[in-house]
Amino acid sequence: MHEFSAACSIVDTALAAAKSNNATKVTVVNVEVGEFTFLVPEQLEFNFEIASKGTILEGAELRLKKVKGELKCNECGFQGESKVDTSIPPQIAAFAPMKCPKCRSSSTELVGGTDFIITNIEAEIQAHSAN
Ligand SMILES: [Zn+2]
Repeated sequence: MHEFSAACSIVDTALAAAKSNNATKVTVVNVEVGEFTFLVPEQLEFNFEIASKGTILEGAELRLKKVKGELKCNECGFQGESKVDTSIPPQIAAFAPMKCPKCRSSSTELVGGTDFIITNIEAEIQAHSAN
């Protein structure tokens, strides 16, 4: 259900932005997704479709852009990009501590790529709002 709650959050945020701009229909939602969110793009798109049903977001295209994750090591001070161990299923990797690529310590903190952000939405704007 990880992807569903993320999809709902994207829908809520996009709807709020669309309404404040008097949009009548949203056509595209651009989202940057951090690597460490462990969101599966296909799952996210599928859940977005469900969550947006019956709203002005229905039928909108969800454009996902992957953002690299960043790691900070408490042992050796390394900070930088870190690759997710693809041999571990995402469901488990999301809860397992990330290992430092330099010293292999598990005493690490995630400092980037742990969130998803709506960068912008494309919408049709009503010229004269009745409201
Ligand atoms: Zn380290």
